[in-house]
Amino acid sequence: MKFFTSLLAAAAMTVAGFAAPAVAQDKGMVGISMPTKTSTRWISDGETMEKLFKDAGYTPDLQFADDDIPNQLAQIENMVTKGAKVLVIGAIDGTTLSDILQKAADAGVKVIAYDRLIRDSGNVDYYATFDNFQVGVLQATSLVEGLKLDSATEPKNIELFGGSPDDNNAFFFYDGAMSVLQPLIDSGKLVVKSGQMGMDQVGTLRWDGAVAQARMENLLSSAYTDAKVDGVLSPYDGLSIGIISALKGVGYGSGDMPMPIVTGQDAELPSVKSILAGEQHSTVFKDTRELAKVTVNMVNAIMDGKEPEVNDTKTYENGVKVVPSYLLKPVSVDKSNAKDVLVGSGYYTEDQLNN
Ligand code: BGC
Repeated sequence: MKFFTSLLAAAAMTVAGFAAPAVAQDKGMVGISMPTKTSTRWISDGETMEKLFKDAGYTPDLQFADDDIPNQLAQIENMVTKGAKVLVIGAIDGTTLSDILQKAADAGVKVIAYDRLIRDSGNVDYYATFDNFQVGVLQATSLVEGLKLDSATEPKNIELFGGSPDDNNAFFFYDGAMSVLQPLIDSGKLVVKSGQMGMDQVGTLRWDGAVAQARMENLLSSAYTDAKVDGVLSPYDGLSIGIISALKGVGYGSGDMPMPIVTGQDAELPSVKSILAGEQHSTVFKDTRELAKVTVNMVNAIMDGKEPEVNDTKTYENGVKVVPSYLLKPVSVDKSNAKDVLVGSGYYTEDQLNN
């Protein structure tokens, strides 16, 4: 009996001896704070990072904040308390995190702003995002092409929508779009019939589709009683859905009222289907899998005591410092290239787009 016991013990030791190196060393906790689950892009951002961090030997703590600022603050505070080494934050309101980030910095925690710049804090180490100005340029370019402005003999009526004024990106999208649209408005080729321009007038708090729908309904009943709207600059697919609902509500998209050219962003599944069905005109595809990869690489470099790779050190001034950034390229998608780009890259399957 004694013999067998020691044999078993020896076997256990051997197993343990072999097993030990196979278990990756725990590289520590990474807090991933995403703003909301109402838009699928943030779910895939979060889940892709969770998987990549696990594969790389970290312990990810993924939290979604339901677009509620106190909720996000509490979740981040909890991550710091639990001993996170790095925080990856997609902020709801980019200006509300200064206090908690000071606590994080005091505890030696590094911070990466994910997709949205965190403002008014010196404790933001890096920023991983897309070229946000270019997103706006792509949206406006697609709007102008969709309106066939080159061959138009009459001015075209457009309306403008902006993103959430507490999201730094919204200003970049709007400014990028206006770099294309303003000269055409100045020359009279485009007319904003409502006269509503500037982020203070066209912004949409919390990127809320219902808010955009209500504003579009108001615009239609106030500025378009004796004229038609030809195009709408929309900065995000979730707003485009609300805008298209308002347009359909007064008869656009049927009979002699063609659906206006409506843009978007994120290539969310319902909007890609709407594009293929000929309703929404375009979207901007930002491959969240690539953004997640860039972020994980940044964290690896930080943890190895190296400098993460960045490709922009000038653009993203956050009120306290210029945050070193890595910008990925956004891609314009419409009916002509949707399948090539989105199925071709494996972002969606053909079946997802057809069903
Ligand atoms: C992101 C966009 C997204 C929007 C609404 C922005 O900060 O960059 O991709 O459409 O938030 O979620």
